[in-house]
Amino acid sequence: MTSTPPAGGDSGGSGPGLGLTGFVRSDPAPSAPLPTPDEEGQLRRAVELLAGRRLAILTGAGLSTDSGIPDYRGPEAPPRNPMTYQEFVGDPELRRRYWARNHVGWHHLRQAAPNAGHAAVARLERRGLTTGLITQNVDRLHTDAGSALTVDLHGRFDRVMCLECKTRYSRQTISRLLEDLNPGFLERTRLDADIAPDADADVADTEDFVVADCPVCGGMLKPDFVYFGENVPRDRVAAAFAMLNAADALLVAGSSLTVMSGLRFVKHAHKTGKPVVIINRGPTRGDDLADLKIEAGVATALEYLAAELPDLSRDAGGPQQG
Ligand SMILES: [Zn+2]
Repeated sequence: MTSTPPAGGDSGGSGPGLGLTGFVRSDPAPSAPLPTPDEEGQLRRAVELLAGRRLAILTGAGLSTDSGIPDYRGPEAPPRNPMTYQEFVGDPELRRRYWARNHVGWHHLRQAAPNAGHAAVARLERRGLTTGLITQNVDRLHTDAGSALTVDLHGRFDRVMCLECKTRYSRQTISRLLEDLNPGFLERTRLDADIAPDADADVADTEDFVVADCPVCGGMLKPDFVYFGENVPRDRVAAAFAMLNAADALLVAGSSLTVMSGLRFVKHAHKTGKPVVIINRGPTRGDDLADLKIEAGVATALEYLAAELPDLSRDAGGPQQG
C-alpha cells in the first residue's frame, strides 16, 4: 500500500525514526483500495451468504499490518521465538532483556493508528450487524476505531499487571517508571530490525536495564497479554463463546488461525451449523471448515461488507422485547 497523507497534514509525533517507517495518525482512516473484479465476485457471494445474519467477528494480525504493525506469521515475517510465560517469570536476565525490548517497542507501536479495516469493523457494530468482536491482536486498535463490544482474547499491550497483587496499570504509567529508572535509554537505543506485534523490539545492550516493580506491593510486573505457554483466562473465553452463540454466522478477518485459541471458534461455528466466512491472503487452518474463503485485502473486504450488507430486518435475530 502506498497511501500517503495529504500534503501539509500534521503527522506529529512519529518521532525521529529509529529505522521504522513513521506511523501517521489520520482521522478518519483513509479508505482501502477498491476490490479487483475477481475479489468483488467473491465479496458478492459473501454478502449473499451473510445478509440477514448477525455476525460474530474474529480478527487477527493481518488486520493491523496496514497500520504498520508487522504480522509475525505473515509470509514475509522473520522467524521469531517469542518468550514463554515460564521463561518470563523464571529467569531474571531474560525478564530484564524482555522489558528493555518492550520499552523500546512500545514507544513505537503506541503511535500506530487504526486503518480502514478497523473502521469498517466498528461500522458493522454501529449498524447493529454484529454480536461482538473477538480479536487476537493486542494492539488496542479496534478500541481506538470505536469498537465497543470487544473481547481482547490475548490481552492488550497498553496494560500491565502485577502478578502478586493483581493491580493493573496503564502501560503509560509503567513507561514513566521505566524512563526514571533508565534515563536516556530510549534516546541512545538503536533499532536493528522490525518490532513484533507484541512490542518486542530487536534491541542490543540490555544488561544495564533496570526493571520496574509493582508500585503497590513490589511484586513482579508483566505486560497484560497472554504469553506462549499461558492459557487465555476462562472468563474471556466464555465471553467470546457467548458472542459466537448469539450470532448467526462467523466472519474471520486477517487470521491464519494458527493457534487453537482462535481456531476453536471456527470449529464451534462449523459444528453448530453457522456459516463461516474467512478473509485472509494465504491459507488458514480453518479453510476446510469455511463456507467461503476470500483471498483479498482485509481492509478492502471489510469496507465492502460494511457498505454492502443490508440492514437486519427488525424481527430477525437480536434480543426480543418482553
Ligand atoms: Zn503488586
